[in-house]
Amino acid sequence: MTAETVLARINVMKPWLGEEEASALAEVVASGWVAQGPKVKQFEADFSAAQGARHAIATSSCTTALHLALVVAGIGAGDDVVVPSLSFIATANAVTYVGARPVFCDVDPATGNVTAETIRAALTLDTRAVIVVDQGGVPVDLDPIRELCDRHEITIIEDAACAVGSQYRGRPVGTGADVTVWSFHPRKIITTGEGGMLTTQRADWAARARTLREHSMSVSATDRHGSVLAPAEVYLEIGYNYRMTDLQAAVGIVQLGRLARIVERRREIAAQYVAGLRGLRGLRFAADPPYGTTNFQSFWLEVLPGFRTDREGLLARLADAGISARRGIMAAHRQPAYRWRDTGNAGLQNTERMTDRTLILPVFHELDDAGMERVMECIRAAAGART
Ligand SMILES: *Cc1c(COP(=O)(O)O)cnc(C)c1O
Repeated sequence: MTAETVLARINVMKPWLGEEEASALAEVVASGWVAQGPKVKQFEADFSAAQGARHAIATSSCTTALHLALVVAGIGAGDDVVVPSLSFIATANAVTYVGARPVFCDVDPATGNVTAETIRAALTLDTRAVIVVDQGGVPVDLDPIRELCDRHEITIIEDAACAVGSQYRGRPVGTGADVTVWSFHPRKIITTGEGGMLTTQRADWAARARTLREHSMSVSATDRHGSVLAPAEVYLEIGYNYRMTDLQAAVGIVQLGRLARIVERRREIAAQYVAGLRGLRGLRFAADPPYGTTNFQSFWLEVLPGFRTDREGLLARLADAGISARRGIMAAHRQPAYRWRDTGNAGLQNTERMTDRTLILPVFHELDDAGMERVMECIRAAAGART
């Protein structure tokens, strides 16, 4: 093998970061104010405008935003919260943080998302909230869920960790929930290193989340440092330190400005994969649902029994070719953290099928045609097709 034939590894994801982020960071460093301050405030304003949300509260991660969402919704011990098992484990963990019980429901196999039907099957007399997830960026069908939840006075929390830039019925996802949370982890659509956001239309919940994020101080740190003689603060309840820094927010502001181009490119890449692999038997691809558009945060494919090899076999072929694909979304109910807990778990067939059979292909802004062709050649070869 000559040096030329050793191909660079293709990662499953690579954030699109550049000079603009570097100079935004340099500016914050030069200002001397690096903790939560004016940049966080600006990022919140930009984000709420982009998402059509009245209030936006930046946090240290989506997980901490989820925790705050459950606290402001008044969820606690004795309450049941319906969540999909087919999600990153943080969705269920946040419910456990507040002492409530996550009750796992199944998903629709076409989207990988919960539906009004799968939620209904998991309702108990103690259900006070449901966390819907826009899995991999595919928007959840919220209207029928809203109808069901309104009838039972159930709060809807939307975990839109993956879904910045996805749309539901022509609008950004998240606007139909009572409170929505977002992630800026590098594995998601736009990044601040670590970071999250909570959005809501409710002024009272927004105000409480804002203080809870900052130890429930009556006077924010920004305001205290802004005056020479700081006013005495009062700690209203048990709060948390879930703040984002100005360093992160400065990067987030630039990233948000790139959002439309990032989503457009990801959709192009997904379309190219589908066009190039459609002819193979035994594969099924992530796609837009009839009521919305996905940002393709994850472009998953399901390896059906009609394919030449199974999911593990295909992953191994891709790994041998230096292509870092990933197993599909996890199923929380199978993890040791939840396996022995009482979490409902009635009928999770679609969840188990999707977690066992799906894999995620590389999609990132700078993935080029040659990279995509390498991925597709490898899958065609695994299918036994002529390449
Ligand atoms: C990534 C992810 C989270 C956690 O986000 P962090 O910002 O890393 O805390 C929560 N829920 C879902 C569905 C996710 O994909």
